[in-house]
Amino acid sequence: STQIQLVRRPVGWPTHDDVRTVSVPLDELADGEVRVRNEFLSVDPYMRGRMNDVRSYVAPFALGETMTGGAVGRVVESRSADHAVGDLVLHQLGWRDVAQADAAAFRVLPAIEGTSPSLYLSVLGMTGFTAYLGLTRIARLAEGDRVFISGAAGAVGTAAGQIARLLGASQVIGSAGSDEKTALLRDKYGYDIALNYRDAPIREQLNAAVGETGIDVYFDNVGGDHLEAALDVFNDGGRAALCGAIVGYNSTERTPGPDNMSAIITRALTLTGFTVGAHLEHYPEFTARMTEWFGSGLIAVDETVVTGLENTFDAFLAMLRGANTGKMIVAL
Ligand code: NDP
Repeated sequence: STQIQLVRRPVGWPTHDDVRTVSVPLDELADGEVRVRNEFLSVDPYMRGRMNDVRSYVAPFALGETMTGGAVGRVVESRSADHAVGDLVLHQLGWRDVAQADAAAFRVLPAIEGTSPSLYLSVLGMTGFTAYLGLTRIARLAEGDRVFISGAAGAVGTAAGQIARLLGASQVIGSAGSDEKTALLRDKYGYDIALNYRDAPIREQLNAAVGETGIDVYFDNVGGDHLEAALDVFNDGGRAALCGAIVGYNSTERTPGPDNMSAIITRALTLTGFTVGAHLEHYPEFTARMTEWFGSGLIAVDETVVTGLENTFDAFLAMLRGANTGKMIVAL
C-alpha cells in the first residue's frame, strides 16, 4: 500500500518536507478483516489542526505514521461475512491507496445511480451533516430568519446555504474569496446576496448589504474578520454556530479576537461552538432529510477533483488556499 505520512509538524503553511510517501507491505488478511482499494480521499481543514501537537477534539497525527481521513473505496478482498468483494465502503483510512483493517472500520454504502460515490465525503456525508447540524441544532434556525454564512462556496458552505433556504430562511447572505464563487452562490446555491471578501473589508460589505434589517443567524466557517462583521449586524437574540475559523489555521501568530464582543451582551446573542463528532445522534435524521432533498433534485453540488494519490498533499494545500469550489476531493 502506498501511504502518506507526517514526518514533521508544520509551522505556518505546511510544506512537502513535512510529509513523505512510503510503501507499506500488507499482511495477509486475518479472519474478520477487509481490504479496500480507495477511490476517493477527503482532504479537510481540520487535518491542519491534527498536524499540530496540541490537545484538541481529535488526537494529533503521529509523526512517522500514516495520516488518516475520510475515504470511499471498494472491497477487493474480504474475510468478513458482512462485506462482499465489490461493496462500496466509507471509512477513515484515507491518505493511502489500499486500506486494510477489521471489517467494523468500513461502513457499506448504498450506490446512488448517476452520482459519484465521492458525495458520501461531502453533501451526503460529513460536510453536509456539519451544515445541517450547525443550522438546526446549534444555531436553531427558525423560519423567517435572515442568515449569513461565511466560507459559503466551500463544502460546508454550499450545503449550508441550500439547507438554510429549505428550512425557511427569509434571506441567505454568503461570503467567498472570488467573483467566480460569488456568482455561483447567487446562480446555483440559492444565496440572495454574495460578497467577495477580497473586494473590501467584509465588515463594511456586510454592514452595507444587511442595512437596517440585521441578521438572526450566523454560520461561521472563517472566524476573525468575518465573525467580527457578523457581531456588528446581529439582531437581538441572534445565534451563531461557530463551525470553523480557517483564517487562523496556518497563522504563526495568535489571531486577534473580535473587537466588538460586547454585542454578545447588549444584544443577548448566543455563540455556540460545535464539532460534528459529538452530535452523531442526529446523523440518522440528517441522512433521511438529505436523501429526500437530494433525491428530489433540490441540492446542487460542486466538487473540485484532483487526480492521483501523489497529489493528495497538494490538494490539501490548495483547499486551504481556496482553490476549491464545493468539496475538494482526491480521485485515485
Ligand atoms: P471548504 O471546502 O470551505 O474549504 C476551505 C475554504 O476556506 C477555502 O475554499 C477558502 O475559500 C476558505 N478560506 C481559506 N482561507 C480563508 C480566509 N483567510 N478567509 C476566508 N476564507 C478562507 O472546507 P470545509 O467546507 O470542509 O470546511 C469549512 C469550515 O468548516 C472550516 O473552517 C472547517 O474547519 C470547518 N469544519 C468544522 C466542522 C466541525 O465539526 N465543527 C466539520 C467540518 C468542517 P475562499 O476562496 O472563499 O477563501
